[in-house]
Amino acid sequence: MTDHRPPVITIDGPSGSGKSTLGRALALRYGLQFVDTGLLYRGLTVAVIQHGLTAADAPSIAELARSAHIELNTDPGKAPGSWDLRINGWDPHGEERNPAHARLLSEVSAIPAVRTALLAVQRAFGIAGCVAVGRDCGMVIFPDACAKIYLEASDAIRRHRRASQFEEQGTAVDASLLSREITERDRLDAPRTFRDPDACVINTDLNDIEEMIRLAVQYCEDMGCAVPSDATHPRHEERV
Ligand code: C5P
Repeated sequence: MTDHRPPVITIDGPSGSGKSTLGRALALRYGLQFVDTGLLYRGLTVAVIQHGLTAADAPSIAELARSAHIELNTDPGKAPGSWDLRINGWDPHGEERNPAHARLLSEVSAIPAVRTALLAVQRAFGIAGCVAVGRDCGMVIFPDACAKIYLEASDAIRRHRRASQFEEQGTAVDASLLSREITERDRLDAPRTFRDPDACVINTDLNDIEEMIRLAVQYCEDMGCAVPSDATHPRHEERV
């Protein structure tokens, strides 16, 4: 029987592996929402700081995960500079990417009750179809996804990409702080970064974006990720 549900495509992998670049490209191509699940954890971490909480306050952080209104901009074609994330209606303007919060970010993400609270939020995006990027999208959030991709890249390339992202945004960031951030997050995130055995693994070391997209599209098409012609996918300012 043909599955008429809008497709869910998952892309997992470590920081700097190219998930957002590929995710936006696939979402644009298939007319799907782009859901950057890492932004939910980043938004929650900013809220944790605003509330003066520390990682030791796990029950309060979990309560915040249930009560905070975190919005993602799911438009894959959004204009540069438009908002990505809102926390209770407030735009943190890049504070969510401050490498100084790296340790707290991973600690907040590790709290089981936080992950449970955000699981439902993430799954809700799947109803209308989406390209979801993160660490556990294929194995945990959307185990029935139409296509699952895992991106890998060498440490050196990932560090270089993260530095370039900050440069492009015009944000000055200390190179050694950034390098420490990646090492620390890799270590802390390892238990929550899953490579689904069924995933299509793409190595992005060569930095050939067109080739990465071509391989991913070929795979999605092989997996039959067709978007129903009568589907309407909410792509703008999806609220969670
Ligand atoms: O993808 P990004 O690097 O922006 O994710 C930020 C953090 O959010 C990760 O370091 C990880 O701690 C957490 N995360 C997670 N599960 C996901 C996505 C992100 O735990 N699905």
